[in-house]
Amino acid sequence: MITIHCAACGQKLFRYQKIGKGKLLHCWLARISSDHSVREGPEVSCPCGRHIGTVEGPWINLHGGSVTVRGSALKK
Ligand SMILES: [Zn+2]
Repeated sequence: MITIHCAACGQKLFRYQKIGKGKLLHCWLARISSDHSVREGPEVSCPCGRHIGTVEGPWINLHGGSVTVRGSALKK
C-alpha cells in the first residue's frame, strides 16, 4: 500500500494499492482505499487547490509532478 501526497502542500490524498514497479502515472479508481481529494466532475484536486489529475474512465490520469508517493508497491 502506498500513500499519495500533494506535491504542493504535502496533504495526504489517497491510499492506493499499487502493483508492480515503475512510475505512477495512473491511479485505478478501484484500487484507491481512502480518498481525501476534492472532485469537480472529472477534475481531481487537493484541498489546497492544486490540480492533481483528471478522471479518464477507470483511472485518474495524474499530472506529472503534481503528487509525491510514499510507501512501497507490491512485487509482481
Ligand atoms: Zn495540496
